[in-house]
Amino acid sequence: MRSLRLFRRAANRLVRLSRFLTLRTAANRLARPARFLTLRTALAPLSIILLATSGCGSVFKDVNVLSEADEIALGREFSREIERELKLYRDPEVVRYVDELCQGLALHSKRSNIPYYIKVVDTDEVNAFALPGGFLYVNRGLISISGTEAELAGVIAHEIAHVVARHGAKAMTRQLGLEIILGLISGRNPTGVRRVASQLAGVGGILSMLHHSREAEREADALAVVNLREAGYDPEGFSAFFEKLLEINDRDPGAFATLFTTHPPSRERIENTRKQAAALPVLEGLITDSERFRQIKDMLPPLEKNPLENEKAE
Ligand SMILES: [Zn+2]
Repeated sequence: MRSLRLFRRAANRLVRLSRFLTLRTAANRLARPARFLTLRTALAPLSIILLATSGCGSVFKDVNVLSEADEIALGREFSREIERELKLYRDPEVVRYVDELCQGLALHSKRSNIPYYIKVVDTDEVNAFALPGGFLYVNRGLISISGTEAELAGVIAHEIAHVVARHGAKAMTRQLGLEIILGLISGRNPTGVRRVASQLAGVGGILSMLHHSREAEREADALAVVNLREAGYDPEGFSAFFEKLLEINDRDPGAFATLFTTHPPSRERIENTRKQAAALPVLEGLITDSERFRQIKDMLPPLEKNPLENEKAE
């Protein structure tokens, strides 16, 4: 079984490599298990080469196996599935505000060519997440806990960065395998996504599948800092937000459990984003806060348990 897995992995790598070699169709065929047994012998030397070269990484690591259309189709399938379970917050003014904030950031991101779909989730939980292909979810609790518009924009820019760098698509392909992914989005298997989602135990499983490596988190942070500045926001909001959350979390572990599980912040990440921002040319007039943000925040129902209020009381 182990050699079989290794072989599949090598064949999948070949698919990625084939992007450069324009051999995609042939390579895709090799990745399919039905065919690979007969091709196994012929491919063995190639798979050894692929395995041997995979250590250097950089060629393979940054290659996304899905086309843009595939990636958007994948995100759409999972967004439909996830929304069967999530309760969305539908206040039109709040939704419009969050949509405009996200669209403004997306427009200045390094992947402004795709449409972004923004939803506000009706939960106290402090979190935001992105599915592959530009499907963003911002929790109501995140808005409530953000001290300024720049803080909220910082977290959203980080999520957009995961879409820009295609981290979600890569993570899902890594976890589910290319063949399952292509099957899910081909339309030949309409119940497939539901089945996979139910095996993953719904939203929680889908989110844990989107768990990103430290390297991916660092890359998203760096992209977010640039994106924030380009969109006119002070990137210090991002660093300050996570610094504040880390301090609260030190005293009350679990206060931001969901956010910390999906996007573990660290002093190192905060320092890196500060250093990066400080090294960039000074830009005057960056937005830190807005009257509209405060109005929107006031419109939201109070959090059942607000860790910031505990902090004030101390
Ligand atoms: Zn992240």
